[in-house]
Order: sequence, then C-alpha cells, then structure tokens
Amino acid sequence: MIAMPYVTPVAMPYVTPIALSSVIPIALPSSVSTQPVARSLARPLALPNVLPIHIPAKLRTIIKAMRQSVQLLTATSSACLICGNTDSRSRHPRFISLCTPCFRQIPWITRIECDVCGRPEYCPDCPRRSDAAFLCNRSAVRYNTRIREWLALYKYRGHEALAPLFGEMLTAAYQGLVKELRPRELRNETTETLYPIDALIPVPVSSERLAEREFNQAERLGAYLAERVQIPLHHVMQRTRHSGKQSYKTRGARLRDTHNLFTADPALTASLLTARNQSHIRLIIVDDIYTTGSTANACATALAEEIRRQRPAVFVELFILTLARS
Ligand SMILES: [Zn+2]
Ligand SMILES: [Zn+2]
Repeated sequence: MIAMPYVTPVAMPYVTPIALSSVIPIALPSSVSTQPVARSLARPLALPNVLPIHIPAKLRTIIKAMRQSVQLLTATSSACLICGNTDSRSRHPRFISLCTPCFRQIPWITRIECDVCGRPEYCPDCPRRSDAAFLCNRSAVRYNTRIREWLALYKYRGHEALAPLFGEMLTAAYQGLVKELRPRELRNETTETLYPIDALIPVPVSSERLAEREFNQAERLGAYLAERVQIPLHHVMQRTRHSGKQSYKTRGARLRDTHNLFTADPALTASLLTARNQSHIRLIIVDDIYTTGSTANACATALAEEIRRQRPAVFVELFILTLARS
C-alpha cells in the first residue's frame, strides 16, 4: 500500500473527509460507517476514464493531484541501477536508469585521436598493423575502472537490468560512426539511411566461456543495437577454440593466439549474402571490449575471406563497434 500525502479536505456537503481519505488505499476497515460513500467514490477512482460528470470540479482536481502523487512516488522508487540512489530528479532521458552522479561517471569517448582504432589518445599500435581487415573501430567509452566494475556486475553477477544501459551506450557509438561515414556536407542529416549498414555480426565466445557466463555479451549488445536501429543481426561467425582470458596476455601473445581463431559459417554467410544481394556490402562486427584489436581483426579476416571465397566480385567494408576501448 502506498502512503498518500495529506490532502486538504475541500468543503463539499455530500462528501465527508473520512470517505475521501479512505478511497485511495482501497482497503477500508469494515467498521467504518462511511462504507457506502467510499464504495461509490472508489469505483470511479479505479476507472479514471469513466468519471461520472456529477463529480464536482474541485473533487476532480483532488483526484488528479492524488494520482500525480502516486506516479511521483512510483517514479522515485525506480532506484539507480548502479548505486541504488532513488533521487530521480533530472535524469538523462536516454539513461533514465542511472542517477545523475552515476551518469556523469560514464567515460564517453568524445575526441578520437586514432582514426583506425578510435583511441582517444596517441596510438602506437595502428601504424604498425599491416594486416587490418577492418576499416575502423569505434567504441562508446574508455575501459576505465568504473566501466570495468559496471561490466563485472553485468557479466559475472547476472545483473541483467544493465543490458539496456550498455545497449544505449553502444547505440551512441553506432550513431557517431554512421555520422562519421557520411560525406561532410551531410553530417548533420538525421536519417541513418545515408550510409546504410547491411548487417551486424556479433563476435562469438567459446563454448567454455558461454558455459561459464551463460550468455555472450557481444551477442546481447548486438541484439539490442539491431532492434534499436533496425539492422539485421547475423550470427555467421564461429569460434574454433577457447583462447583463454585475453586480458591477461601480452600483445604478442594475443596476436599469436587469435590466428585462425574464427571461421565464418559457409551456409550462414551465403544466406547473409543472398539477403543482401548487392555488389557493395557494409558490415559491423560487434564486441564488448577493444584492446589490441586482435580478436576483432581475426574475426574480420575470417569473415572477409569467406565472403571473398563465395562472391569474389562483392566489395566488402567491415567496421568494428565496441562498447569500451581499453
Ligand atoms: Zn547512481
Ligand atoms: Zn589506433
């Protein structure tokens, strides 16, 4: 039962203050003698769209105020997903699940220094990469301590309510990428069809990792984005082996480790190409974290090889979209 704020009774000869204050909580003690009055009021209150016209304007104002108070109380009970703060004042419209202090902690990447990997600072890696199978990576946020903690809540503790939050972050990165890909004079156009992306491809995890976590984070992120921006999601990639935790390895070890780590399923690739029967195809590979880019590049290499094998004449552009840039 929701506690109602006190409402000043208005002088109305045929509605007693007792009946009015008893209507909203619905449950009335049987001893209350105003039961018939309460019942006759409770009925229209329960069905607000059929309020009888004989209810005076002042009473309707009170009912409206009560209803707004209930809504307000309900809204403040939606606590911030990260810290549990129930203060819902001025939440960001796209990130309503976060309180303002938590929203301000999101380390957005707002300035890109490396056009290839989307790094917000000087990048020593991309100039020495000679085998990039993708055009560029864009990430929504920096992979800092805060994001690592938030992702851990999601990945390891099954805090599923966080999925839309990360999905919205990825959507922001997608919108930034699409805007960048447009000709300069069309950057401020709102339509996303100016640089259409044909499909989203999630980076698969190994069956060992899937058993451990019960879900593939890249797949969930991809599914959210696919739904959000109405682009098909195609699960064409397969992982050939379990490569262990990438975060504990050196750059050289990661590069060696990811060699032939993925294959593109021939039948699923064929159905993707049939669905998009065109001479030029643009695909986005979706993953959670970009570190050296070796995982994403291995995935892009395998996908490009399979497409080239099946349709040598098709011109393929592959992009990487990740939640966080390490
Ligand atoms: Zn918070
Ligand atoms: Zn770079």
